[in-house]
Amino acid sequence: MHHKLIFAVVTAGIVAATFVHAQLPAANPIPEIAGLPSGARAAAASIDPEKIRAHVRFLSLDLLEGRGPGARGGELAAEYIATQFALDGVEPAGDNGTYFQYVPLVAVHTIEDKTKFSLVPATGQPVDLAYGTEIVSKDQTGQATADFDVPIVFVGYGIDAPEYNWNDYAGVDVKGKIALMIVNQPPSEDVKFFKGNALTYYGRWTYKYEEAARRGAVGVLLIHRTDLAAYGWEVVRNSQAVEKSYLQNDPSATLRAAAWIQHDVAQKLLTLGGLGDLDNAIDQAGKPGAFHAVELPVRLRAHIESRVRRYVSDNVVGRVPGVSADNQAVLYTAHYDHLGIDPNVKGDNIYNGAADNGTGCGILLELARAYAQSSVRPPHAVYFASVTAEEQGLLGSQYLGLHPPVPTAQMALDLNYDMLLPVGIPRSASLGNADRIDFWPTVQRVAKAFDLALLPDPNPRAGHAYRSDHFSLARTGIPAVSIGQGSLFEGHDEAWGKQQAQDYVKNHYHQPSDEYRADWDFRGNAKMARFGFVLGWLASEQPKSIEWLPGDEFEAARKASHAQ
Ligand SMILES: [Zn+2]
Repeated sequence: MHHKLIFAVVTAGIVAATFVHAQLPAANPIPEIAGLPSGARAAAASIDPEKIRAHVRFLSLDLLEGRGPGARGGELAAEYIATQFALDGVEPAGDNGTYFQYVPLVAVHTIEDKTKFSLVPATGQPVDLAYGTEIVSKDQTGQATADFDVPIVFVGYGIDAPEYNWNDYAGVDVKGKIALMIVNQPPSEDVKFFKGNALTYYGRWTYKYEEAARRGAVGVLLIHRTDLAAYGWEVVRNSQAVEKSYLQNDPSATLRAAAWIQHDVAQKLLTLGGLGDLDNAIDQAGKPGAFHAVELPVRLRAHIESRVRRYVSDNVVGRVPGVSADNQAVLYTAHYDHLGIDPNVKGDNIYNGAADNGTGCGILLELARAYAQSSVRPPHAVYFASVTAEEQGLLGSQYLGLHPPVPTAQMALDLNYDMLLPVGIPRSASLGNADRIDFWPTVQRVAKAFDLALLPDPNPRAGHAYRSDHFSLARTGIPAVSIGQGSLFEGHDEAWGKQQAQDYVKNHYHQPSDEYRADWDFRGNAKMARFGFVLGWLASEQPKSIEWLPGDEFEAARKASHAQ
């Protein structure tokens, strides 16, 4: 950004700040909410849109170089957040009395021209696969080379879901072999069967890799079909063309080949294996009782070379003590990392990540300040974690879930903020997972007081529940909710809000143009922060632990954490 522009931006900020402060008592009342002490109400009211603006603006400067994890800009962002915590009186809650929790990561880049995959049928000639156009793969173990020649087992959707009486692995052993499977989950109109139209975690490719790794598979060939994946082969290819990070020594990421194969290649493989038409096989694999896993008379031979880089990035963790012990702690999360700099992009190649997730960080920092400076202390401790490597696959939060600041069972609730476009004052909210926990009636009550209509997920097929950091915590059992805004804003109709979101997704999301704008209106971010403040305070006040509703996919993990 040009310096003259920066000056103009700062000036505009000061003018807006003055205006908002003058308006504060009348324009930003915190509604009367039963159970919320007046001191907490005042603390929530102190949440200042212009402070959020200042954080977002700084974190998305070109100087921060796109906040790539393990890169200078990412470290600067982490230091900034830790410094703000310190200035505001938030206690350190990271490693060794610091604000930093060190997350050991390994980045893997497959060297395309040195890597070779072939299908080797029991009889006949091997078929070489073209890397990039037909197959892409990552060695999750972070070793420089891999060589194997092992059988391929077709396991349908690759799902073992006892609650749906479904096991694609029944009757076969994939240990030391390659598991061939279909992307997504069995089609369903019945909410009791793979949640009908909504995506369950079983449908996510991350689950499929994890399940096969648990069973000792050497690799996975995930069959791509555009309609089932909901994105084209180019998306798979592009995402594999860059390096991908993993937690070092992650027991759930042990595949030597975490691969995707293109639909027509999968058809070739099925033909070689005598299994006939692929689309027919996909149909069969989605019908209860119609599918049986089968080992093909075809092996996968591979020589894989990877460029490997080990590095450390930090989660930044702070704490505000409560009146009582930590046994019902509340956690706020927002990832600070973004995509860094792409040297291959011409022109502006800095991924500033202003909305994604400068906004979440600004909100988290304001929440931390408001809690730390509140005249009354919350009933239990409140933690603030700005996590790293979300864009690499929720890795910072995965590490936080494995190494929580207090035992998992003592965490009452996680509230996560990711990408809240500052375009106005929302009158609706979308709260991922909130209707799946027994805190839901309180959420509804508070939302009503804040004039926020609660909308069902507009696109349940997209699986938002699994796509930000709250998922990392939910899977350890912690009730975890993502606080998002809906598309209804004050002074506008629903169509306008949808248009804003669509424009952002199309023109700025994960692009260098996701930049701070001086005309952004942060009153909406402040409203969502106050809303989350009240939810967190009330969660801390609950007479008993918050639980997932019976039958929820995360209920078992919660129960297991309580049993420990
Ligand atoms: Zn993102």
